[in-house]
Amino acid sequence: MTKKINTKYTKLIKYYSLINHNLILGSKSINRYKSKNYINLNNSDNKELENLKSSIKNIKNCELKKNATNLVFSDGNPKSKIMIIGEGPGANEDKEGLPFVGRAGQLLDKMLLSIGLNRKNVYITNVVNYRPPQNRKPTESEISKYHPFLIRHIEIINPSIILLLGSTALNAILGNENVISKARGKWVQKKIGNCNSLIIASFHPAFLMRQPDQKKFAWIDLKLIKQKIQELKIKIEK
Ligand code: URA
Repeated sequence: MTKKINTKYTKLIKYYSLINHNLILGSKSINRYKSKNYINLNNSDNKELENLKSSIKNIKNCELKKNATNLVFSDGNPKSKIMIIGEGPGANEDKEGLPFVGRAGQLLDKMLLSIGLNRKNVYITNVVNYRPPQNRKPTESEISKYHPFLIRHIEIINPSIILLLGSTALNAILGNENVISKARGKWVQKKIGNCNSLIIASFHPAFLMRQPDQKKFAWIDLKLIKQKIQELKIKIEK
């Protein structure tokens, strides 16, 4: 009996020590813009990314573009081996021209921080690069229109790990037959364009804000990502 309890506690201690769960479950917000460590990494020294950005800016007959204020291309470090893909920009992202800067973005920052990641060592983009009006989900035809750009984006970044946030990103990359509640937390090796990556899906931070009881699963997924980073010996810039 004593032995059983000890093993259980040892496992729990190992699990808890792997990530800083207070950052995900705590209610204190973090503001990366006021952080002393915030570095604005832009893509202007990467010709391929600049070309891709121009192609998206020149997209024709697009209702999303017509209704949006700014193109929301990406944030983070283009040299990162970890790429995160969300659904599409919301009102704050449209205003600032950067992905995940609203409340969902603040939660994403906390989730990343809990496994030692931040926007200096990951690269973030979305399935569509202009805000869908009224924050609705992008339609199938909008997703298809932006799909070649997303694939090219992945090829340019060439990540070892791709994290898909929510069902829109999951379905856009791994197919419509996948359901987020079943597909999350499972590694899939897949060739995307000319890039071979390990892909994992997890819940979207906006969903986690609506359903905080599901944060425990996102936490498990983050732990899997941290383990994979160690396994693949991916160098994380601090
Ligand atoms: N939700 C997303 O999926 N992407 C963003 O950039 C912001 C919110």
